[in-house]
Amino acid sequence: GCWLYDTCGRKFLDAVASIWCNVHGHNVAKLNTALVEQLEKVAHSTLLGLSNIPAITLAKLLVDITPPGLNHVFYSDNGSTAVESAIKMAYQYWKLNGQDKPLFVKLENAYHGDTLGAVSVGGIDLFHSTFGRLLFETLTAPSPHPYRFDGTPEECRDSALAGLRRILEKHHKKVSAVIMEPLVQSAGGMIVHPDGFLKGVKELCEEFDVLLILDEVATGFGKTGKMFACEWEGVQPDIMALSKGLTAGYLPLAATVASEKVYSAFLGGDYGSGKTFFHGHTYTGNPLACAVAIANIELFREKGYPESLTEKISYLHLRLKEELAELSHVGDIRGRGFMVGIELVKDKKTKEPFSWKEDIGRRVSRKIVEKGVFTRPLGPVLVVMPPLAISKEEIDILVRAYRDAIYEVLEVGVG
Ligand code: PLP
Repeated sequence: GCWLYDTCGRKFLDAVASIWCNVHGHNVAKLNTALVEQLEKVAHSTLLGLSNIPAITLAKLLVDITPPGLNHVFYSDNGSTAVESAIKMAYQYWKLNGQDKPLFVKLENAYHGDTLGAVSVGGIDLFHSTFGRLLFETLTAPSPHPYRFDGTPEECRDSALAGLRRILEKHHKKVSAVIMEPLVQSAGGMIVHPDGFLKGVKELCEEFDVLLILDEVATGFGKTGKMFACEWEGVQPDIMALSKGLTAGYLPLAATVASEKVYSAFLGGDYGSGKTFFHGHTYTGNPLACAVAIANIELFREKGYPESLTEKISYLHLRLKEELAELSHVGDIRGRGFMVGIELVKDKKTKEPFSWKEDIGRRVSRKIVEKGVFTRPLGPVLVVMPPLAISKEEIDILVRAYRDAIYEVLEVGVG
């Protein structure tokens, strides 16, 4: 289920899905069986020069469940490497088309992983600034953050799109791709983009002939209430990065899924033509991880996910609003589906943030953990991102723990 037990036997509700990857809960019979059955055949054989049945079957399933047009699957083993592969694929795509386009456009507050390519397209100073001199050059487009914008959500969206347009107008000949997290920028503080932003980005990518890479590592596999976040706006990227929920949070596996257009640029010619995509990891397409991922997708189908989650999602948002919205230091409760951020502020009226030295997110989160709910904040933003399998009763437990902890730390001054 959704509970974790510590070495002293205390139990904790897993409110962050073991860092956003768990889907059906822990120790799930069907997933365990898939893993053991595969283990009794072969644990690993390389995908470099060979293949294996679970990797082939899963690739077909991924082509089926991802948006139309994404037809080719490239495996790696975590979210960062899925992004690295996407970046290299996009750059080489243009080279194979006779163009050298060394720039990528990223968004402010973006997070795409901790390897150097992924850090290059990241925009969170705390994580990324130390490594500045090691990174490749990027252009930064505004990230629309309605809570921190002085105006309507539509104005916020249009202003961010205008910023991206200015960048592409000037630099598109040198830009391989725009990379972004669709709908929700997770590590940036669960920033929820205004409706129409993603669609607007896609239109600009088409207008200026640059690729669109969508990083669905966090948002994929039902987390926003649809299988993939981009479905909300009917957007098909050229390349999509997947990991986390792919194996329901069981094993490290990632996939970079590419369109026919991108894939076919790599076809043809002899070895010397330079069309090979030279990228491969030892554990790429690992059969154990692929077997669990197949069982995960079967479970989605058996449970009618994500459609059957609609009511539970509304309940989560309703309960959070009912219990937390009135608290004097809760500035914003925002989210899509099972991805929610609760921003704590010093002054609710002026939205004045807490100083980082006050360490407010961690202090409140520690209090939530004391109450038997495991969570981890993003600066002053408390995170709620439970497994999709969470029950309504567990949602109540979670909401009460967050409410009591915020109240005790910020209104009573305990902790
Ligand atoms: N992309 C996004 C949107 C993420 O949220 C993360 C991790 O949180 C990553 C990429 C990196 O994934 P991993 O930690 O598996 O390398």
